[in-house]
Amino acid sequence: MGRLPFFAGNWKMNKTVGEALDLVKGLKAAISGVIGVEGEVEVAVAPPFTALYAVRKEIEGSSIFLAAQNLYWEEKGAFTGEISPLMLKEVGCHYVIIGHSERRQFFGETDETVNRRIKAALAQGLKVIFCIGETLKEREGGKTFSVIERQMEGGLKGLDDREMGNMVIAYEPVWAIGTGKTATPEQAEEVHRFIRGKIEKLYSRGVSEEIRIQYGGSVTPENIKGLMNQPNIDGALMGGASLKAESFSKIVRFKEL
Ligand code: PEP
Repeated sequence: MGRLPFFAGNWKMNKTVGEALDLVKGLKAAISGVIGVEGEVEVAVAPPFTALYAVRKEIEGSSIFLAAQNLYWEEKGAFTGEISPLMLKEVGCHYVIIGHSERRQFFGETDETVNRRIKAALAQGLKVIFCIGETLKEREGGKTFSVIERQMEGGLKGLDDREMGNMVIAYEPVWAIGTGKTATPEQAEEVHRFIRGKIEKLYSRGVSEEIRIQYGGSVTPENIKGLMNQPNIDGALMGGASLKAESFSKIVRFKEL
């Protein structure tokens, strides 16, 4: 069986509760019929923490999954401002995004802290969207593959084959995030192929063939088809395009474009 295409919307620090509900209602209506267990694609939304509960209520009974944008690895305690895996699970999250480049850039996350977060999420039964990607400077310095390799080895350290079954990788070149500069399908495919090859080396052929690798970085309804035509691109993690039901749903319905 092939890999089910997976589209996730990262709303970042956008949307009040009311706005989040409007968006998810619009999305639900616009994609009904194309998602679900028997459907053709999988969809998740990652609202800010404040809107998780309300959005969960709104998507109940639909096939849209709830995702969080981050977590802290402890279960509870004196960690002011943090949210635990247990809390996310309780509120209805199925996925959590970990290691987003904005977390790495602005909030000091490292491969080591990303790894701790991934392990804590998996231990609580959450599935993980693990983000990796190089900066423009790293790409121009010919370091793309070594950076990806370092992020993968660090982030996935200690995970076994079974745990890899609950992982999704999002390749997000930092220079393409929110900039309007998408990687070409060929540029993205080159890195996706490398990532899958690395998973095969670290785990097995079976694990590498099953794992889904999303592309992220200025994905739009205009460029999604070209990206999805690549053999190793299994969906997208979207920022800007996921903030409007129209563009989000067009991407989800890419086969009709
Ligand atoms: C992201 O932040 O994960 C992202 C890909 O953003 P955008 O689609 O806006 O580039």
